[in-house]
Amino acid sequence: MKIFVIMKRTFDTEEKIVINNGKISEDGAEFIINPYDEYAIEEAIQLKDKHGGEVTVVTIGNEDSEKELRTALAMGADKAVLINIEDDIEDGDQFTTASVLGEYFKGQEYDIILGGNVAIDGGSGQVGPRLAEALQINYVTTITKLDINGNTAVIGRDVEGDSEVVEASLPLLVTAQQGLNEPRYPSLPGIMKAKKKPLDELELDDLDIDEDDVAAKTKTLEIYLPPQKAAGKVLSGELNDQVKELVKLLQTEAKVI
Ligand SMILES: Cc1cc2nc3c(=O)[nH]c(=O)nc-3n(C[C@H](O)[C@H](O)[C@H](O)COP(=O)(O)OP(=O)(O)OC[C@H]3O[C@@H](n4cnc5c(N)ncnc54)[C@H](O)[C@@H]3O)c2cc1C
Repeated sequence: MKIFVIMKRTFDTEEKIVINNGKISEDGAEFIINPYDEYAIEEAIQLKDKHGGEVTVVTIGNEDSEKELRTALAMGADKAVLINIEDDIEDGDQFTTASVLGEYFKGQEYDIILGGNVAIDGGSGQVGPRLAEALQINYVTTITKLDINGNTAVIGRDVEGDSEVVEASLPLLVTAQQGLNEPRYPSLPGIMKAKKKPLDELELDDLDIDEDDVAAKTKTLEIYLPPQKAAGKVLSGELNDQVKELVKLLQTEAKVI
């Protein structure tokens, strides 16, 4: 089975985020595999264990993305591909990402492509569906269960807390939701083996892509952090007095009654 994972390197949103000149500052930021993509990688490895074949992890990024690709290889992927766009494209958007991936996959044989349901930084959830559209293949989003039998996939998906079961034929693209599996940590032997696994680097020229054809269709005008929350107030004293004080504050300070 030819299994691919599309993986995004994201900054860790659990860490402090600093904005400089309307962009999230990369200085001092921690970078990780997008957490939803970890589910995709884990599922891909489990599919390989069950059905045989090969797992290839693909990312669009720059040479810093090699670290996250090596982590995916250490988890158990067989091959990694870095599409390095650093020298060619300054501002990309979801159209750029999906179009570049589309050109890459037009030159590949694949049975299934797995991705994350959403990136925790950009957060549009567009790349998977846009890629499937570009390739004219079936796609199912936010999946929590995947069983493949021959050419047919039976998929459980999360629908705002409810579940839906969908059947689709391969080739197929799916995007992973929390609950699909428990991603493994890379083992020490896995980390050692990963150093020798193939990691290919491609540029737009290798894919015969003209940068104008994948130029962004949207422009981010502003990025800002939410306003700092004012500290809360703790009332003390007799309960009756506290209630009176609370009502007064709701009228005069919060102005909600
Ligand atoms: C050349 C380039 C320049 C960019 N410049 C800017 C910029 O100046 N400002 C800015 O704010 N953003 C920039 N971006 C980021 C871009 O706008 C989006 O973050 C990116 O297209 C993904 O969209 P998303 O984060 O909404 O992902 P989603 O659509 O939410 O991601 C869903 C899933 O798609 C897959 N995926 C997403 N991105 C990638 C990837 N890069 N490689 C492989 N798989 C992926 C993953 O499986 C992910 O879980 C740039 C991107 C590129 C390619």
